[in-house]
Order: sequence, then structure tokens, then C-alpha cells
Amino acid sequence: MKASEIRHTFLKFFESKGHQIVASSPVIPGDDPTLLFTNAGMNQFKDVFLGFDKRAYSRATTSQKCIRAGGKHNDLDNVGYTARHHTFFEMLGNFSFGDYFKKDAIAYAWELLTGHFKLPADKLWVTVYAEDDEAYEIWNKQVGVPAERIVRIGDNKGGRYMSDNFWMMGDTGPCGPCTEIFYDHGPDVAGGPPGSPDEDGDRYIEIWNNVFMQFNRTEDGVMHPLPKPSVDTGMGLERITAVLQHVHSNYEIDLFVALLAAAKNAVDAATPQRAEGGCDASSPSLKVIADHIRTCAFTVADGVIPGNAGRGFVLRRIARRAIRHGYKLGARVPFFHTLVHPLAAEMGEAYPELRTHADRVFAVLKQEEERFFQTIDRGMEILDAALEALGTAGGTVLDGETAFKLHDTFGFPVDLTGDVCRERGYTVHQGDFEAAMSRQREQARAAGKFKMAQGLEYSGVATAFHGYEHLVCETSKVVAVYVD
Ligand code: ATP
Ligand code: MG
Ligand code: MG
Ligand code: MG
Repeated sequence: MKASEIRHTFLKFFESKGHQIVASSPVIPGDDPTLLFTNAGMNQFKDVFLGFDKRAYSRATTSQKCIRAGGKHNDLDNVGYTARHHTFFEMLGNFSFGDYFKKDAIAYAWELLTGHFKLPADKLWVTVYAEDDEAYEIWNKQVGVPAERIVRIGDNKGGRYMSDNFWMMGDTGPCGPCTEIFYDHGPDVAGGPPGSPDEDGDRYIEIWNNVFMQFNRTEDGVMHPLPKPSVDTGMGLERITAVLQHVHSNYEIDLFVALLAAAKNAVDAATPQRAEGGCDASSPSLKVIADHIRTCAFTVADGVIPGNAGRGFVLRRIARRAIRHGYKLGARVPFFHTLVHPLAAEMGEAYPELRTHADRVFAVLKQEEERFFQTIDRGMEILDAALEALGTAGGTVLDGETAFKLHDTFGFPVDLTGDVCRERGYTVHQGDFEAAMSRQREQARAAGKFKMAQGLEYSGVATAFHGYEHLVCETSKVVAVYVD
């Protein structure tokens, strides 16, 4: 089954169970200042769960465009290195707004997975929130999952409701206990079952989360019961597709095969000194590029442009990260933007906005990429000169101040400095670099504590563009401060 058929089967299954098929909302949340990007299918229904908004239906199903590259759900650093994480992915979901609850949600999930998708029951594990005896009993008694494959997950992350099985959209908003379904990819892959010390491996992969929405968490941390208990579920399309296509990694599914090939072609075409056969087709860098073009293209298509603050800043950072990975593989001229049309060919049917805006997205990313290549060229001149002087003096360690200046003043990424140094037999003085970074962070923090117009406090670094490692967004808090 192709990913597109899996998406279709999911939506049709829930339609047959009385759910309204609703289109994905944009990756930029409508009027939710607590959220940088849409991070789950439930976002567009947040006010319905809270009882502020009413729909003509009490059951819905979607395939939602999601981005997890900042805020509470941030998978940026996982991308390319785990089999299962993207910054952009599609979340298949079914929703009950005060209609059905735990029993039906679990029964639907099981029917779809084992009935329609024909997954062997003994490969599926489930987790429940430690205190949720009701969910446990449904799995065990009604569905018949044996006790040895049901794991209770408690508040072992430091505080009540900090459990993996207590889902929260962000620090505030709808939340509740959840039950998750995992697929066992078999003993050839490293990793332990959920709840075990090595659960972070890629053997047991979480495919579907069913959240029992029961509370609204306010900023003071208080959980207010929702008007009606509801259901919100999310299954990563790429993950279930990997299972159904009998591959282990999301990057091996049909949706990614063409995109990865396009990424390799684009990098090879931009590489003046190409090895025989071009760059290594299995390099994690190609996965990063294929992942990031999806995030960047969808973000620009939905209206963000690269900039120095907020969403535009995250977009810039992700685009530059992809370009850096291409540079690492040998690309010396812009290549990343050329992936816009291959992506539109792959995903434009499901998301027509990719086709409608393809030329604009291409132009925006091209301009951004050209600017960054100029930055790289300028940085390389400085670095070349510094390394030449260092070599002449017989040194092997580049001073941290030069690395910092490159990063801070010229926007030249420090990991690129590290890569170039490594290639030429030098290292960077990490300690001094870190010290310069902290010094600058302190200065920025002192200057950057101010109140926003709507009374939300901005704490942390200032909005000025200091290199591009500090992330500031327009929500109530600094969402994250990144140092690659
Ligand atoms: P994980 O523990 O693997 O990071 P999660 O618990 O953070 O996943 P949820 O918030 O429960 O994920 O989201 C619901 C579903 O969305 C997951 O079960 C998974 O199938 C999918 N999903 C979550 N994050 C990603 C991602 N970064 N890339 C691809 N799919 C994802
Ligand atoms: Mg996660
Ligand atoms: Mg999880
Ligand atoms: Mg989860």
C-alpha cells in the first residue's frame, strides 16, 4: 500500500464510523499565540475541546500537516538520526467532541490496525497512563491484549502529569491521559519495549497515540475539567506506512524514495569535485535535506518568509541547516530550492497548495539560499586566512574567539567551522567558544527582558539577529535557545 492509499484508507475508515473528513489546517496556527507551528491534528479543534467553539459534527477525521521544530514538541535534532522523526510529518487523526470515549476509541484503533491493515496482534504493544485502570481493562479484557504487552507508564518524568502517557499540546491547553500503540520491528533492531531503560531505541516504534481529553491546563498549572470528555488521536502517516511497507525507517517509504533521490541529484549537481557515483546515498545528511525541504516548502506555502524573529527565524534556521548538510556533502552552489518542484510532484495531490505556490516557494527559498551561500563564502575567506596563519605558527587549535566571531558577526555556523577544521587537521577551542557564547547570551538576556504589547512576558534573548542560533518567538516565552 502506498502512503497515499494508507492516508485514504484511514480517512475512509473513520468516515464509515460517522466521522466528518476535515481538511488539514495550515502549518501556521490560526490565532493561537501559544503555538509556533501546528504540532498535532487537534490544534484546529482546540476551541471545540475547550467548549468555546461548536461544529456541525461531533466526530471528525483529518490528515494534518504538522511541524515539530520548536516548543514543547521539538524533534529537530532527531531528524536524520532516528528512523522515526521528521520536522514535518502528517498526522492521521480521529476526534470525538464529547461523543464517544475510551471504549470506542480503542476498539476503532484496533479494528483499523488488525482488521484493515492486517497487522499481527502479537507485534503490537500498548501503554496506558499508570492510573488509568479503565483503559487497561479495555485493552486487556475487551480487546484481549495480554498483560505482558500492556505497559503502565507513570509520572516518572518529574511531577504529576509529566508522563509520556499524559499528553499536552503545550504548557497550556487541552490535555489528558493517553494510550499509545507501539509496533515491534523485531530483534534485528536495537531498543527495548516502552517503559524499559532502552525504550529510546528504534525497535518498538510508537505508531498511534489515543488521547482522552479531559482537562484544560492553565498557566498556573491547574487542570480544569473540560465540559465533555473527548478523544483526540494521532498516528504518524510515515510511521504506519513504514510498518505496512515492511521497512524499518520512515525514510525508506515510497513518499521519501523519490525525494531522497532528488536530494542526492541536487547535491551532486552542485558539487564541483564529485566523487565517482556522487555523494553517499545513505548519508543522514540527505535525510535531513529531504525532511527539511518538506518543512520549508510547506511553511513558505502557508505564508511564512525567512526572517530574524519568530516563525521566519525558525524557517531560516531549518533551511540553513539543510544547506549546511548539503555543503558537508560537497555542494558549493545553491541546490536546496531545486527540490521544491520534485516535492510538489510527490505531495501536491494530497496538498494542492504545494503546486499552487510552487513557483513562489521556489523563489523565496532560492533567494534565502543565495544569501546563505554568500555568508558561507565570506566566512570561508576568514576561516581560510585564520587557518593559514595558525598553520604557519605551528598551531593546531583554532581559538574560540575567531569561531565565535565567525558565528556571531558573519552568521557562519560553528559546526561548519568545526567540519572545515577537522578536514584540515585542526580543532576548535570549544571551551573558549562556549565561554564567548555564554557571555553574549548573558548580555542579550540583560537587554532582552521586556513586555510585549499584549502583556505577555518575553524572557530571554533579544530579538536582534545574533548569528542565528538563538531562537526567539512571538509567544509568551522563548520557545527554545538552540546552540548546534
Ligand atoms: P515520539 O515519542 O516517537 O517522539 P510523540 O509521543 O512525541 O512521539 P505524539 O505527540 O504522541 O508523538 O504524536 C502522535 C503520533 O504522531 C505519534 O504516535 C507518531 O506516530 C507521530 N509523530 C510524532 N512525532 C513525530 C515526528 N517527529 N515525525 C513523525 N511522526 C511523528
Ligand atoms: Mg516526540
Ligand atoms: Mg512518545
Ligand atoms: Mg506519543
